[in-house]
Amino acid sequence: MPSVQFIKGIGPKKAELFERLGVKTVSDLLRYYPRAYQDRRPDSLTQFGSVNQVVFLGRVTYTQYIPARSVLIFKAFLENDEKKTVECTWFKKRSFYARRFDPLGNLKKEFKAGAWVWVVGRREDKESFVSNKISVDEYYLADDPAALLHVNRLTPLYSLTEGLNNKMFRASVAAALDKYLSEEPEILPEKLIKKRSLLSARQALKAVHFPSNTEELSDAQRRLIYEEFLLLAAAWGVKKRQNIVKKEHSYKVTRALLTPFRERLGFDFTPSQKKVINEIFASLTSAAPMTRLLQGDVGSGKTIVALSAMLLAAENNYQSALMAPTEVLAAQHFITVTKFLNGLKINVSLLTSSTPKKEREKILKNLADGETQIVIGTHSLLEDNVKFKALKFIVIDEQHRFGVEQRAKLREKAAHIDQLSMTATPIPRTLALAFYGDLDVSTITELPPGRKQITTLNVSEAQAHEKILEELKKGRQAYIVYPLIEESEKLSAKAVKEDFEKLQKVFAPYSLAMLHGAMKQKEKESVMSAFSAGKINILVATPVIEVGIDVKNATVMMVNSAERFGLASLHQLRGRVGRGSEESFCLLVPGRETSLSKERLDIICETSDGFKIGEKDMELRGPGEILGTRQHGEFELRAGDITKDVKVLNAASEDRDELLADDPKLLKPEHKLFRDRLVELYQNHWHLIDLS
Ligand code: ADP
Ligand code: MG
Repeated sequence: MPSVQFIKGIGPKKAELFERLGVKTVSDLLRYYPRAYQDRRPDSLTQFGSVNQVVFLGRVTYTQYIPARSVLIFKAFLENDEKKTVECTWFKKRSFYARRFDPLGNLKKEFKAGAWVWVVGRREDKESFVSNKISVDEYYLADDPAALLHVNRLTPLYSLTEGLNNKMFRASVAAALDKYLSEEPEILPEKLIKKRSLLSARQALKAVHFPSNTEELSDAQRRLIYEEFLLLAAAWGVKKRQNIVKKEHSYKVTRALLTPFRERLGFDFTPSQKKVINEIFASLTSAAPMTRLLQGDVGSGKTIVALSAMLLAAENNYQSALMAPTEVLAAQHFITVTKFLNGLKINVSLLTSSTPKKEREKILKNLADGETQIVIGTHSLLEDNVKFKALKFIVIDEQHRFGVEQRAKLREKAAHIDQLSMTATPIPRTLALAFYGDLDVSTITELPPGRKQITTLNVSEAQAHEKILEELKKGRQAYIVYPLIEESEKLSAKAVKEDFEKLQKVFAPYSLAMLHGAMKQKEKESVMSAFSAGKINILVATPVIEVGIDVKNATVMMVNSAERFGLASLHQLRGRVGRGSEESFCLLVPGRETSLSKERLDIICETSDGFKIGEKDMELRGPGEILGTRQHGEFELRAGDITKDVKVLNAASEDRDELLADDPKLLKPEHKLFRDRLVELYQNHWHLIDLS
C-alpha cells in the first residue's frame, strides 16, 4: 500500500510525524488502532459519561468578544432543545501578527447566532456538576457532514506525538478508509472466518476506528486480535516444525561420571529434579536435537540438573558450555561446579571478559583440542575465536537475560546442538500453552527440603536497619541492595558508594563490603569469597547479585527504592536469602511510593509463587519484556493482549494446529494471502522461518 503522504492533508512534514509513530504506509495507518474511545453520543449537560467531559449540541444564542490587553477572549452561549445552556470560552494570546491575522477570526465567523454547534470540552469548575462553564477542546458545526467523524458517536482517541492532534488524525484515518479500504485483502481462510463467526477484514478495520456501537466495536476487536494471534501462533508453529532434523551424534548413559557425582553430592535430588533430569536425558538420547526450557523457581536447584546433563555429555566425550548473564554468576557457577566435581576426571574452565590474556589463550587452546569438557562463561563465549572440538550441548542460564541473537549465536557454534535454557521467571501458563505448546518445557515444582519461607515486608529505612542489626547479632549476614540506575552499572555504583560510608557508621563495628558491576573481576571474586566465608557481615550491592548468588548464612536483605525493580527481579533478588535452614527476611524500602508501586510491592509481599509473580509481571509490563525479546519485535502486538484475551488466544492456537496439520507449509491456494502476511511480518525478525 502507498505511503501515508498520498492521503489528503498529509504532506512531507506531517508524514514525518506519522513515521515517529511507526506509521509509514496507509496500511500501517489502518492498523494504528485507537488507544481508547470516548462516548460522544448526545447527552444532557448533567449526565456525561466521564466526570469532567462535556459533549453538547446547542444553538448559538449570543457571543461576546473581549479584546483585553494581553489576551483575546471569545465567549459563546449555546442552548439546546431542552433549554439547557453552556458558556464556552476561548483564550488566545495577543501576538504581533494579531493586526493582520485574527486568531479568533474563525470562531467569530462560525459562531453566528442561530447556528447549531457541537462542542467537546471540560468543565471549568471541576468540582461542580451543575456549572455550565466549559473550556472547549474541539467544536464542529452541526451542518458539516464531516462532524460525524468526531461527535455524536463512539469517538476514537489515538496515541499521538507532538504536532499531531486527534481531530486531524481521525480525518486522516477516515480519508485512508475511504480511498484504500477496498484494496485491503482478506488474509484469513474463509473456513476460519465461518468457524469463529468473524467480521471480514474490511468490516473490522472500518469498525475498529469508527464503530457504530459497542457491539460492533467488540466484534471488530475480536477479529483483529484473532488475526494477530493466529499469525503469531503460526509463526511459532512453522519455526518449530522446521527445527525437526536428525542429529548425527548420540548419547549413551555409562554413569562413569554420573554415579561418582551423585555419591559426592551430599544430598538427594528432589522428586522434581529427578523427573526433569529424566526428561532431559530422554531428549538427549533421542534422535532430534533438544530445545528445552527448564523452569523452576529461584533456589529450586536448576544448576545441578544442568550439571548432570553436562556430565552425560562428558561421559560421551562431548563438550558443553554454560553461559550466564553476569561475571559474578558465571564465577559462582564455576566455584559450585568445581566443588561438586572435585576428584572426578574432568576439566572445567571459566571464561569471561576479565580472564587474563595468557590464561584465556590456554583456555581457548584446550577447548579447541577437546582437553576441556565443560566451559562456563559470559557473553565472552560468543566471540568468534572461541572454538570447540566437539561442542554438543549448551546451557543458557537465566535465558531471558539474553537476546534472541545471542542465544542463536551460541547455538551456531556447532551443528545439531542440544540446548537447555533455564529461567526462574517462568513463562506464564497461557503463553506457554498457546505458543510454546510444542516446545519442550521441564518444570521443577518444589524446592529442596528444609527451606524456610521468606518473610517479605514493606518497611521504612529505620525499621530495615533495626532488623538487619537483629540478624547480625545472631551471627547472620545481610545484603543491602540498590537499584540499577538507568541501565547503567556506573551510575548505580555511584549510588552505592555514596551511601556506603553512612552505612558503615550505622552498622559499626560490623564489616561491610561493596559489590558492583564497575569493579574488576578479581575484586568481585575476592569480595564474594570473603562474604561466602563469613568474613564480611554486610554486602552492599547493585543488582549484580540478582541472579544465582548462594550464601546460606545470609538471612536478611534490604532493597532500597524497591519500586524501581520489576516484580520478577524482586523475586529473584529475594531468592538470595532463605537458602539455609534459618528463617529469612526480605525488607522492601520504597523510595517514592505511588499507588501502582504499592500494588506491586504488595504482590511481592503476599506471593512467593514465582509462576504467579511471572503472570502478574507480564500483565504489568507486557510479554516482550518477560521473554527478553522486547527489542526484537517478536511481540509487537497491536490489537491483542496475551494476558487478557485468553479466550481468543486459545481459539487461535487451536486453529493454528489444525491449519498446519492440514497444510504444513501453507502451500494451498486458499492459504496464500495468509502465508504472504506471515512472511512479511516474521521472516526478517525470525531468520529461522523459511516458508520458501
Ligand atoms: P536455582 O534454581 O535458583 O539456580 P541453584 O541451582 O542455585 O538454584 O540451587 C540452590 C541451592 O540449592 C544450591 O546451594 C544447591 O546446591 C542447593 N540444592 C540443589 N538441589 C538440592 C537438593 N536436592 N537438596 C538440597 N540442596 C539442593
Ligand atoms: Mg540459577
